[in-house]
Amino acid sequence: MTELNISQASRESDSRDFHSRDITDPVLARIGNTSLLPYPTSPAEGNINVKAEFENPTGSMKDRIAFGMVTLLEKRGVISQGDLLVEASSGNTAGGLALVANRRDYDAVITAPIENSPQKLGYVEALGAELVACPDVSADDERYYRTEAKRIAEERNGVWLDQYTNQLNPEVHSRWTGPELTDQYPDLTHVIAPMGTGGTMSGIAKWVKEYDSSITTIGVDAIESNISTAFDGETDGEHSTDVEGLGKGEKLPTMWFEYIDDVRSVSDADSFRQARRAANEHGILIGGSSGAALFVAHEIATQDPDSEIAVLACDGGEQYFDTLFDDDWLADRGYEF
Ligand code: PMP
Repeated sequence: MTELNISQASRESDSRDFHSRDITDPVLARIGNTSLLPYPTSPAEGNINVKAEFENPTGSMKDRIAFGMVTLLEKRGVISQGDLLVEASSGNTAGGLALVANRRDYDAVITAPIENSPQKLGYVEALGAELVACPDVSADDERYYRTEAKRIAEERNGVWLDQYTNQLNPEVHSRWTGPELTDQYPDLTHVIAPMGTGGTMSGIAKWVKEYDSSITTIGVDAIESNISTAFDGETDGEHSTDVEGLGKGEKLPTMWFEYIDDVRSVSDADSFRQARRAANEHGILIGGSSGAALFVAHEIATQDPDSEIAVLACDGGEQYFDTLFDDDWLADRGYEF
């Protein structure tokens, strides 16, 4: 296995910004350059704009890190075509990496917890990558999906990208998603994004703080995902959320809290309700983690009529027709709407 150490993935060692127009592969050139959609608010509220990351080819912002990590590792001579790339993903990174591996002629193995969205994992095999389904066990179990990814990379001489520790994950967002956002929305006052690995929020936050340090950066997690707890320097408690994409209980190296002003927690019910309203009332089909971020955006917009808020919609609602958009699924889990 090729070890990815922090120096290979350092924040300083490569100065080129990413831009979708520089991508020569016509399929991969569809990554990034996503729309900023105005979200209706009342005249007494601030403005909210939704960064439509679901427009990426496999439906999420994770296409950016898949492309960015592979590109930077190639430039640094760590990987080359024909190598085996291995990644553990609960969904969206899986599709992104399968696409990039396909177009760039890499082999790819994705390990994923079995219970995750079949729509998301459907990308993996459709795009020619290998899917290794893992049981939903805790991190200390050797069958855990990240442990399995590491083991496969070791056994098959592959490269484990490890988005949960790889500094290129937030770095790609600081050089690509962040600048793209400030180009589109030069006057923004707040950026809000859901957090799992924290890569999206951390990278964008680093960029916007350099762009204008008065911009407020807010990460969003679920009440029981505990990133907010880690942010406040408290010890972990129980964590369990039905919102796919939000974090679990730990502070990860990909969470650059020094650029993040606050992490707010949203209940699963409010996240789902907000995602359903965005679709039903405004025709903007987003997933549950984006619903959580939009919920916080409304809180800010209500408090501050002058706010100009960008919300990251990490993925679209079509991956969740049989979960959060399904009344029976919600009722079975005790959600009342
Ligand atoms: N929303 C969704 C739907 C996701 O798949 C993820 C990734 N786990 C996130 C939000 C959080 O993104 P990040 O890992 O960059 O914090």
